[in-house]
Amino acid sequence: MSSLHRPVDLPTWPGVIERYRSFLPVTPRTPVITLLEGNTPLLESARLGPRMGLRLLFKLESVNPSGSFKDRGMTVAVSKALEAGSRAVICASTGNTAASAAAYAARAGLPCLIVLPAAGVAAGKLAQAFAHGALVVTVDGGFDTALAVTREVSARLELALVNSVNPHRIAGQKTAAFEICDVLGAAPDLVVLPVGNAGNITAYWRGFVEYQAAGLITAPPRMVGVQAAGAAPLVDGRPVERPQTVASAICIGNPASWQGAVAAVGESRGRFIKVSDDAILAAQERLAAEEGILVEPASAAALAGLQELAMAEPPRGRTVVCVLTGHGLKDPGALPGAAAPPPPVAPTGEAVSRAVLSLLG
Ligand SMILES: *Cc1c(COP(=O)(O)O)cnc(C)c1O
Repeated sequence: MSSLHRPVDLPTWPGVIERYRSFLPVTPRTPVITLLEGNTPLLESARLGPRMGLRLLFKLESVNPSGSFKDRGMTVAVSKALEAGSRAVICASTGNTAASAAAYAARAGLPCLIVLPAAGVAAGKLAQAFAHGALVVTVDGGFDTALAVTREVSARLELALVNSVNPHRIAGQKTAAFEICDVLGAAPDLVVLPVGNAGNITAYWRGFVEYQAAGLITAPPRMVGVQAAGAAPLVDGRPVERPQTVASAICIGNPASWQGAVAAVGESRGRFIKVSDDAILAAQERLAAEEGILVEPASAAALAGLQELAMAEPPRGRTVVCVLTGHGLKDPGALPGAAAPPPPVAPTGEAVSRAVLSLLG
């Protein structure tokens, strides 16, 4: 029998709850709702890292089932909602939480309600939420307003709130830190990630601290949180009334996990850094053109931040993990090549050869 025709094996990756069960708030009675999230690649940079003198690794969270890291937390939050007997889940979202909640709720057979800020939700993310059958309410205002009202409604109607203010979300998201340590056999020197509502940086830090307490790593990494210049409350030290950035996933003026983010950066002797929208889009283009990795703008902010850091204080020879949080197809409007293709040429070998040669230059 040819090796190409072996019987198909069942997947050996069981999803983050089964893989890291002892670190998570689940019991044998918790119904596990999973789409086999996690186990995402840690891909070594081909060009950008070597150019900075770094061993740079990209954690490709865009490879999760709904295309962002939100799935790690959502598998736990939705499983716990089902265990608690909730009749529906609800979240406020700039897009990726909605897409993830809608997918896991569909899997669980629960209704999913999404409260959308009127402005700043990427087309691909909304399409995902609708495809999974989510019920959508739009409210005037930005994300911070939408989250405040959603917290009130979830309490009033007794619906399970699955934003990252839900501790089960943070618990699930810390598994990304576990995976990085499991692959490297140690913690990296530096972890760089974009920060919006600050749940993810809080979760990574918790993951590293728990792995150290368990004796699985000797020291945690420094944490670098990157914000967009127009939405940088943690860099500036105060909430931003009207946050604005092309990176819609981190367009948040008053992060719910503010304290967690400050603790992560403070205890790890890391830092917050802000980058311009131009730097974010340039980083997005470089990742696509020089590494073959397509991400949405918020994810590219992490690379932009690292590049700015590397210019100021070159951290040569170090192992750096840059967390690429969400897929580029989610926000096609933010892609540089979103313009139309060139006008057609005659469908002959000669005409197409001429066009090809002129493109090659
Ligand atoms: C949610 C999200 C972020 C921000 O994560 P927080 O936990 O809100 O700080 C960054 N990038 C992408 C793609 C996201 O979906």
